[in-house]
Amino acid sequence: VVLAPVEVGEVFETALSLFEPRLEAEGVTLKRELPSSRLYVHAEEIRLEQVLVNLVANALDAVAGRPGATLTIGAQRRGRSVELWVEDSGPGIDRPHLERIFDPFFTTKPVGSGLGLGLSLSYNIIKDLGGTLAVAETGPKGTRFLITLEGTTTHV
Ligand code: ADP
Ligand code: MG
Repeated sequence: VVLAPVEVGEVFETALSLFEPRLEAEGVTLKRELPSSRLYVHAEEIRLEQVLVNLVANALDAVAGRPGATLTIGAQRRGRSVELWVEDSGPGIDRPHLERIFDPFFTTKPVGSGLGLGLSLSYNIIKDLGGTLAVAETGPKGTRFLITLEGTTTHV
């Protein structure tokens, strides 16, 4: 694995751009909690983007058809690490499901609409990049997934 400095705001915007039509069509409010200065992580841009795409896709599935739906993305430096989050105003993850969501082929979606691979793939990618992926919060007001990666002081 070759890690290089990746700017968090940029990779978020690239991932989000794929969902612009869907955000618009479904009336989902997008909130950004990003620092005003650039924030870099040690990562592989393509693979980090893939993880963010998976998390955003799940967040949008979770809020589908719910009034006042919101999607919040954010990042902050925390010591030598950087935290990235994707948060939704969906119904939350059922307790019994919580320990299975990172398993390959685990899905609660109708046949044909979810393979159940997004989170297991994402988990392995983040692990490969030396970080962690976890559910930071889930309940009736929504769910927040949290990625932690090693930061960098590089300014490119
Ligand atoms: P898929 O999206 O194909 O179902 P994933 O691996 O991406 O597969 O997710 C596995 C399961 O985890 C989903 O089917 C869903 O039950 C649960 N899940 C993931 N993200 C969320 C979320 N943001 N809110 C509620 N449930 C979620
Ligand atoms: Mg998914």
